[in-house]
Amino acid sequence: MAVILYDISYEICALIFLSVVAVHFFSEYRFPSITNLIFKIILGATFFYTLLDIATAYTISYNDRFSFLLNLMLNQLFFMLLIFLAPLIYLFILSLTDKLTKKNRVFIGISFLPWLALFIIWVLNPIRGGFFTFDIYNDYIHGPFYYLIFIISAFYLCLALCMTVINRKVIQKKQFVAIFMFSVFFFVALSIQYYNPSLLLSGMAACLAVVMVYLTLQNPADMLDDLTGCLNRTALLRFIKERMKKKACCNAIIVSLDDLPEINKLFGMDTGNEVLFNFAKFLKGISKKAFVFRLMGDTFIIATDKQKECFEIKDIISGKLKTSSFTEDINIKISATLCYTRNVRCPAQESDVMLILLEGLQAAKSKGKGSVFEISQAFADSVIFSFDMRSILKETLEKQDLQIWLQPIFSPATGKIIGAEALSRILHPEKGIISPADFIPLAEKTGMITEISRQVLEKICSFIKEHEPFRYEGFECISMNLSVADIMQNDFPVKVNDCIEKHDLVPGSVIFEITETAAALGSDTLKNNMEKLCEKNHEFAIDDFGTGYSNLSTLTNLPFLILKTDRSVMPDDLSDKKQTSVFMKLIDLFKGVGLDVIVEGVETKEQHDLLLRLGVKYAQGFYYARPMPMDEFAKFIKTVNS
Ligand code: C2E
Ligand code: MG
Ligand code: MG
Repeated sequence: MAVILYDISYEICALIFLSVVAVHFFSEYRFPSITNLIFKIILGATFFYTLLDIATAYTISYNDRFSFLLNLMLNQLFFMLLIFLAPLIYLFILSLTDKLTKKNRVFIGISFLPWLALFIIWVLNPIRGGFFTFDIYNDYIHGPFYYLIFIISAFYLCLALCMTVINRKVIQKKQFVAIFMFSVFFFVALSIQYYNPSLLLSGMAACLAVVMVYLTLQNPADMLDDLTGCLNRTALLRFIKERMKKKACCNAIIVSLDDLPEINKLFGMDTGNEVLFNFAKFLKGISKKAFVFRLMGDTFIIATDKQKECFEIKDIISGKLKTSSFTEDINIKISATLCYTRNVRCPAQESDVMLILLEGLQAAKSKGKGSVFEISQAFADSVIFSFDMRSILKETLEKQDLQIWLQPIFSPATGKIIGAEALSRILHPEKGIISPADFIPLAEKTGMITEISRQVLEKICSFIKEHEPFRYEGFECISMNLSVADIMQNDFPVKVNDCIEKHDLVPGSVIFEITETAAALGSDTLKNNMEKLCEKNHEFAIDDFGTGYSNLSTLTNLPFLILKTDRSVMPDDLSDKKQTSVFMKLIDLFKGVGLDVIVEGVETKEQHDLLLRLGVKYAQGFYYARPMPMDEFAKFIKTVNS
């Protein structure tokens, strides 16, 4: 029985180096990127590989002191790690070059076929001895496929090098040099070991490779917040890109301390910082699987992979806030506003995730200090929808591209069109026709409504001027809808007069509709503006009457000449005696007050017949015609009124 003596001194040095790297790596709070995760695996695999290299050198050399089974198991394990090392480095390069994606799964799958062959040989090794076996004296000998490990490892190193060269633009220069160097080290060491098996070098080569990669890893401090040691905003954006989007779900809790500015003012900045530091420490300690980011001064985000954890963390934070003060010397009551996601899908853009979370926090804050708000999928969708809509609307208005559709207003008695209502639309290349219900409320909130009204007035004035001959066919006017913000502008009457004069039109060509809800506000500015315009013979209609909470005094106090009933006022089922008689009484009442009535929402012949019987002068609804683009309306009126 021959005793093989291995030189293990390099492998012992390698173990010491690796231990230092491991201690340093694990002592920092690191960003949970895939690159860091793969590095962790490489570090662990290299450590155990080197350890096993030493152990097996010992058990092979002194096989008479160890059982055959132990010798076999240790060598089997050693070979498993050996066949893993080079492919792991290849995976690491793929992640570094952003190629570890679902899109590349076929290519990655195919590139792992040689490894699969090695794995099968490894599984069969105890019975077939492909990589190693023991002779009749229990001495270790290499199997027929031993050399394959070196060839296939070299293949993965070459592949890793090729990926590095091809994608050098996305890799930093220092990373490029390091990857190049470690591939060379590894290759040279494996070759020496192949030709001189008693000199154990592969652990040392792998260790050098690990150290070089370690030096190129992102400095964890770049991703950390100085004061609290939490991950910072840059890390959050990367986390969303790498983790949330891969898992396709957005599980996060956003928590904002309510009184930090007051604490700073009353107790000083140091106490404020102490609260922040201790609060962050508490958040970081809640779960090992959750990651804590400091988003801004007093706001933190805790991101997890699981929805269940999201609920648990939210409850733990709420509970802790009730009992702790987060300061040592002074007992300060801290409150925080919280919001958390419930089964929310991760949107396509990273910035949209932030938008949803920030809007959620805003919603929580609007409920008051210490509130908790749940971000549902519907909430997330509405945030994204209104954000998209805001930019669509802005662009449409900038390009003066708002579409005006006209819905004819008929005289039920004559069957002729006497007017039309202007209704806005946006024509979007992807979304198609966007209804005003989707953008008018947003425009009112953002102040864009006044620009909408300006453009609508401008377009209908041009249209009326262009089609003046309609007037001789019984066509009287076009009405447009106004919002509260329009009529509240002090210079609104001047703007209207200027536009009407510019197009050389007579007042009354455009009628202004104000909803019942807006009119019910009854402010002085509203009344003054209406009166100024009425003095110049402009006319107003009260719109959607029957939906708001105004009383009849609104009608008499403000100078309305026309009343438009809301769709809901028109009875659907005329056999319902109660509803129909209420409607008939209302029409009588409005006529009694001296108002012209336009009944909206006429959809059936029966409803039209009822209006005829009641002597209603004007009607609007799908029974007569739907809203249509201006040029179509121009043709339509010719066929109906001539
Ligand atoms: P509105 O002023 O009450 O306009 C009437 C709405 O009822 C229109 O919806 C019209 O298409 C619909 N309608 C008409 N007849 C019928 C019917 O028989 N059955 C049914 N089911 N619906 C009918 P649209 O165009 O979607 O407009 C919705 C609302 O958006 C308008 O209600 C108005 O308040 C607002 N709006 C539209 N354009 C503008 C605008 O340029 N400025 C402002 N401030 N508001 C606008
Ligand atoms: Mg209207
Ligand atoms: Mg209406």
